[in-house]
Amino acid sequence: MFDYMMSKNQMKIRDEVRELVKWVPRQMILDMDLDKIKFPKEFLREAGRRNLMGCRYPKKWGGRDMDWVTTCMIMEEVGTLGYEFACVFGVGAELVCDAIILHGTDEQKEKYVKPLLKGELFAAECLTEPRGGSDFFGATTKAEDKGDFFLLNGQKRFIVGAEGADFFLVYARTNPDAKPQESITCFIVDRGPGVEVKYLYGL
Ligand SMILES: Cc1cc2nc3c(=O)[nH]c(=O)nc-3n(C[C@H](O)[C@H](O)[C@H](O)COP(=O)(O)OP(=O)(O)OC[C@H]3O[C@@H](n4cnc5c(N)ncnc54)[C@H](O)[C@@H]3O)c2cc1C
Repeated sequence: MFDYMMSKNQMKIRDEVRELVKWVPRQMILDMDLDKIKFPKEFLREAGRRNLMGCRYPKKWGGRDMDWVTTCMIMEEVGTLGYEFACVFGVGAELVCDAIILHGTDEQKEKYVKPLLKGELFAAECLTEPRGGSDFFGATTKAEDKGDFFLLNGQKRFIVGAEGADFFLVYARTNPDAKPQESITCFIVDRGPGVEVKYLYGL
């Protein structure tokens, strides 16, 4: 991003991200290309230690009270390592945390967002299914209300970071008779005995 588009503070953060980018060992990039590293936890841990993830969220939840421009600038800098780094950097801290920050409870923010932004917890977003991804409201993964819990059944595919995720943001159909936008609910699913993850091929 051009300097004239950034404030002094944003330029300072850009320099911090560049330091992170320089920190990444060349071998890590090569190993990711070769699929020897399927999920670069060490990279996310380091980004978390440097407080570079989720910069636009409130400080209270581990962010830096910044904005979307700063987020875009950071993603652009991380992207110089290769799109897969930007992808894993963004999925947990941006897609997953964004949903929890906007719609979750304080308890969920405490339990999932704070440790994720510190690089201590990893997450994936599960939207796309083997049947396709564009038709979001056609999702067939089902969630049945069983009283004090929901029973989820279904398959997701193309899930960046699923191999290393401690929890998943899963979109599932809760009411097939409702209008499309009201038929789907988003669940936080901890990795556990009922969750099976298979690595098909590198994205
Ligand atoms: C690098 C990468 C990372 C990803 N990470 C994730 C992730 O972390 N989590 C996740 O859930 N998903 C992820 N995805 C999946 C992504 O969300 C889907 O690829 C996307 O939603 C499109 O779905 P699809 O590939 O199944 O294509 P399809 O939905 O099968 O579409 C195929 C083609 O048909 C076109 N098409 C579809 N419907 C229509 C229509 N009604 N009218 C006209 N044209 C149409 C599409 O434009 C496309 O060209 C990732 C994908 C990539 C490439």
